[in-house]
Formats: sequence, C-alpha cells, structure tokens
Amino acid sequence: MDHQHNPSNPGGAHGPALPLASNSVGAVSLCNCGVLTLHLSCFSVRLEPGAFQELHKLLGLALHELRIPAAARPELGASAAEAEPTISHGEALH
Ligand SMILES: [Zn+2]
Repeated sequence: MDHQHNPSNPGGAHGPALPLASNSVGAVSLCNCGVLTLHLSCFSVRLEPGAFQELHKLLGLALHELRIPAAARPELGASAAEAEPTISHGEALH
C-alpha cells in the first residue's frame, strides 16, 4: 500500500485517512501509515495503535466508574437534600 502523506507537509501532517467510525462526539480515522486520528469537535489527536488501544481501555474504565455513581447519585442526592433542610429547619425553629 502506498504511503500517501502529502510531501508538501513534512511537518507531520498525515495523508488521506480511512474513516473507521464516527458519532455525535467525533470520528476516528486510520492513516495508511497505521496512525489513528481521533477527531473531536474542536481538536484532533493522532495516536499510534498501541496508544489508541490504551485510550480505549482508559475510556472503558472511566465509563465503568461513571456508571456506578451515576446510578447511585439520584437516590443519594435526593435523600441528602431531604435530610439537610429538615435538620436545619428543626434547629431554626428551636
Ligand atoms: Zn500517516
């Protein structure tokens, strides 16, 4: 496969990339040199396949951590919000 990096951009610009995936958040494309580019709304970042895999792992771990508090928060937040005003009201009345 030809490496089609633009010779007029030797500063590291990568050539035509194969789109791999995209959604409302951004897109990922694969350069023919093997480097992956993650495009987000205001910036893009180039990652080697190994680093991309680590990023995927990182996001997976973060998502896993996020699920637990996100599910527990509404109940905790509601009970905490209920408890605090009740206590302060009681104190204020005394
Ligand atoms: Zn490239």
